Amino acid sequence: MAFVNENFLKLAGNYLFAEIAAKVAAYKANHPTANVISLGIGDVTRPLAPAVVEAMKKATAEMAVEETMRGYAPDRGYPFLLEAIVKNDFEARGIDVTQDEIFVSDGAKSDTGNFGDILSADNLVAVTDPVYPVYVDTNVMGGRAGDLKGDTWSNIQYLPCTAQNGFTPALPAKQVDVVYLCYPNNPTGTTLSKAELKKWVDYALQNNVLILFDAAYEAFIHESDVPHSIYEIEGAKQVAVEFRSFSKTAGFTGVRCGYNVVPKALKVKTKLGQQVALNDVWKRRQATKFNGTAYVVQRAAEAVYSPEGKRQIQETIAYYMENARVIKSGLEAIGMTTYGGVNAPYIWVQTPNRHTSWEFFDRLLNELQIVTTPGAGFGASGEGFVRLTAFGKKSATVEAVERIKSWKL
Ligand code: PLP
Repeated sequence: MAFVNENFLKLAGNYLFAEIAAKVAAYKANHPTANVISLGIGDVTRPLAPAVVEAMKKATAEMAVEETMRGYAPDRGYPFLLEAIVKNDFEARGIDVTQDEIFVSDGAKSDTGNFGDILSADNLVAVTDPVYPVYVDTNVMGGRAGDLKGDTWSNIQYLPCTAQNGFTPALPAKQVDVVYLCYPNNPTGTTLSKAELKKWVDYALQNNVLILFDAAYEAFIHESDVPHSIYEIEGAKQVAVEFRSFSKTAGFTGVRCGYNVVPKALKVKTKLGQQVALNDVWKRRQATKFNGTAYVVQRAAEAVYSPEGKRQIQETIAYYMENARVIKSGLEAIGMTTYGGVNAPYIWVQTPNRHTSWEFFDRLLNELQIVTTPGAGFGASGEGFVRLTAFGKKSATVEAVERIKSWKL
């Protein structure tokens, strides 16, 4: 008799986006001619940059020839990509990260989810609230979350991010071992200043806390005081892992590539107090459970850093950020309160008339044929908000904002 990992059974079947998809499908079935506009799920709509496509074609042609075909990739990624990452994402910002601290992967969802494999089930974990659901769900799977009480897990510390605290989480009141931070933030679209992030690094240094810093939306930062990497803060290499993704930076959601940085100086303890370098443990984990990102994909990622690649990608980011501006200014013009949307492709909208997130979601779908993401789906502190994304087509985004502006709420 085989036994199931019962931690998985603790998770509700209806993952947020599945629930939204079911509601949208039901609406469309009843209204087959409706022009439904999605500002909901955070997937990109712009095509890959031509420089990236060229690199993929070239790499594919190499794979078709005996002399140049490639088999398994090196465990941590091809040196050409590691070099481009070090040079452009870190050296260019005066940050010292070396190639042997980087692990190329198939994306930040896998990395943030898998990283729990190398952390003890006894760690007490803190997450900001609202939060990207993957952090919580993978800790449930890893047996670290305890039991579900209402809509919170008994062993997870939630750090509310609300309009009252400017979406800046307070340091945990209780001693925790691991903290997930995501900045620019999904879902709120807000950021931390350098001074605010420094508070977290100092706290982690003083209290032996591991920070798992998700910078998947780094490319959308426009303001100068917003850190692009946690390693801009002194001491962060001793306490933080950073996760990066080409998904939103360069439209790779369907191509799949990301990386994480596990600094050599980052050490945690065994139960007996022995210091262990997480870089070694993660390397061992990846070498055993992951067989590398495809050569063609790594060449595509390398092209993101070429001069043409950079220019083309900036154009796409500008396209999305113009959508963000249209949404934010359009909604604010009719008196709605919004957050984010300046250094991130997400706009966090306070629901009017004290609607709950799902009530407002339903009204937008049924009355305006606009799909959003209910904030409550990201955690208790998301109640009273919906998330709009700037990843849609420009014409559809403009149309959606016009519908909201001419709406009698
Ligand atoms: N991290 C955050 C905060 C995200 O919002 C997302 C995707 O929406 C991811 C990670 C996943 O990125 P990837 O496509 O690289 O797996």
